[in-house]
Amino acid sequence: MNLDFSEDELHRYSRHILLGEVGAIGQARLRSASVLIIGAGGLGSPLLLYLAAAGVGRIGVIDDDVVELSNLQRQIAHSTAHLGMAKTASAAAAARALNPLVRIDEHRARLGPANALALFADYNIICDGSDNFATRFLVADAAHLANRTLVSAAVLRFEGQLAVFHPGGPCYRCLYPESPPPGMAPSCSEAGVLGAVTGVMGTLQATEVLKEILGLGESLAGRLLLWDALAAQFRTITLARDPDCALCGATPRIHDLSGDYGGNICAG
Ligand SMILES: [Zn+2]
Repeated sequence: MNLDFSEDELHRYSRHILLGEVGAIGQARLRSASVLIIGAGGLGSPLLLYLAAAGVGRIGVIDDDVVELSNLQRQIAHSTAHLGMAKTASAAAAARALNPLVRIDEHRARLGPANALALFADYNIICDGSDNFATRFLVADAAHLANRTLVSAAVLRFEGQLAVFHPGGPCYRCLYPESPPPGMAPSCSEAGVLGAVTGVMGTLQATEVLKEILGLGESLAGRLLLWDALAAQFRTITLARDPDCALCGATPRIHDLSGDYGGNICAG
């Protein structure tokens, strides 16, 4: 691993390098890591900014939306001046302004069964910040099939969830075996969300990504973190592996992305 740092890098990352658990080796690990973020929205905004600030060497962002006025209540990578701009371009500009030393790959596209596996294979860690179940199931399947760690966060109203799925399982489908029918599960655009809740969950997601890259602490894999903002309470539940899981069970039935993901697949 290349441990040569410029003066600029040593200054910029000095508060990381001061941490014995990170140090120069950890910072070099961050620099050589690559992370894909699905959705440049409420979760993707703080996630992208903290990963860029931390010096994660290559960060991909996939989204096919443009910045709208109703996004700005929570999607803090975007700004009023960027209304109408592609979210990937707007978010990438914010990340590059924060840290020009990291590479940001803009994927202005809709994630789907046709592009997910090739895209995932190009990154070390996959982060789900999408806002609908169809995309979540597609991402879970593709991350498992591509043998990638998935760091997944979700928000609704005043609550958040966070999970890390390692390729060996338990997986997202051990938790939610089937996608709910379209219209059964409300999205933020239908049910609303307190803006700061997305900020907390996206930042927790960034923290878990950094822990996975650095091999620090106790991985969240195998557990689900739940946050109730109104009660000001966090709790963690253990995720059991389902031996009959269609994705990671003893006799898996999902071998590719040809299944029906139900509903409109989008991100953001
Ligand atoms: Zn499973």
